[in-house]
Amino acid sequence: MVQRHSQDRLPDPNGFFGKYGGKFLPPQLEKPFAEIIDAYLQIENDAAFIAELRYIRKHFQGRPTPVYHARTLSQKNGGAQIYLKREDLNHTGAHKLNHCMGEGLLAKYMGKKRLIAETGAGQHGVALATAAAYFGLECEIHMGEVDIHKQAPNVSRMKLLGAKVVPVTHGLKTLKEAVDSAFDAYLADYENSIYCIGSVVGPHPFPMLVRDFQKVVGIEAREQFMEMTGDFPDAVCACVGGGSNAMGIFKPFINDPCRLIGVEPLGRGDQMGEHAASMTYGHEGIIHGFRCYLLQNDDGSPAPVYSCASGLDYPGVGPEHSYMHDTQRAEYVTCTDMECRDAFFRLTRLEGIIPALESSHAVAYALKLAREMSRGTILVNLSGRGDKDLDYVIENWGTGDDIEY
Ligand SMILES: *Cc1c(COP(=O)(O)O)cnc(C)c1O
Repeated sequence: MVQRHSQDRLPDPNGFFGKYGGKFLPPQLEKPFAEIIDAYLQIENDAAFIAELRYIRKHFQGRPTPVYHARTLSQKNGGAQIYLKREDLNHTGAHKLNHCMGEGLLAKYMGKKRLIAETGAGQHGVALATAAAYFGLECEIHMGEVDIHKQAPNVSRMKLLGAKVVPVTHGLKTLKEAVDSAFDAYLADYENSIYCIGSVVGPHPFPMLVRDFQKVVGIEAREQFMEMTGDFPDAVCACVGGGSNAMGIFKPFINDPCRLIGVEPLGRGDQMGEHAASMTYGHEGIIHGFRCYLLQNDDGSPAPVYSCASGLDYPGVGPEHSYMHDTQRAEYVTCTDMECRDAFFRLTRLEGIIPALESSHAVAYALKLAREMSRGTILVNLSGRGDKDLDYVIENWGTGDDIEY
């Protein structure tokens, strides 16, 4: 049996999960963040807030998403049975909308008019722009100029949804500069605006707040899985970028006799710059206002990272994951681009589900683990659909005809 974990009550009032997390902010941002903490602590138990969020999840997002027993995939693979929590069927095609709708609703309750965020690959920007359209709020997305060119379809989506996309033209013109730019914009107008982060990262209260909004995934999945099988899954498996889809499905299983396994991207290999496996190869550091496992240069600055899945290429990782790593409640493993490729094609051909490359990392590890286990069950968070990745796949990997299915 897994021990009962006191982790249920984390973070502490200062936003720490053990030594990770916290709130390392420039002094001018202390007050606006304190305001968000106060508002969230009041609203999280407010009956009207909860009722409205439930309504949105059911009627706008299409929740609950199903749990699906991937019978063919499991049978051809051998060993344990694989089940998928279908977040690819959530509105906009991924789990990110779960916390963006929560953040949008929080903004509405706080009387804010504008949502501000940065985006790298554009997935968070699109989900947040969707929330802004729903709530009738303004939306301002800061994005590096390099990323704007790389992610043209997502830039179009954001603009169609009514968001203002602010190009960031200094430094390397990617995510890091976009974060600074979004913080500056927020600081200049925090009376009217709220900053909305895209994962269980950033300064307190965001790792807690995003986790709480994503917990719906695990709460639903746990009930659905029990109803389907009459038992707990032996393992729950999810990919880890910042860690929001993983935390969302892990948290409700924390006191259950299940292994919790986070899968980090090993990209092209274990050389620095070729992967984004923060927990496996990083060590303690500070990024974007919080402490976590971090891939860093000798001077402590975030190291360059790479993954074929752009949603996973973040040098840090959520503070609660960092804590669960140290307390060994969760295991963190890796999967390479090529293992991801194999899983992507197998799930597509054998089940008729085209997964996001991020999610394919979790599927790849589940396939490996299932073969090691002679029996039992694995529940995978299929965090998103692969439509956004089709050009990349076809151009770099073909159509998967070389694989024996
Ligand atoms: C953004 C994204 C991820 C990674 O983010 P987490 O916060 O680690 O969940 C995973 N899957 C999909 C489909 C994404 O869009």
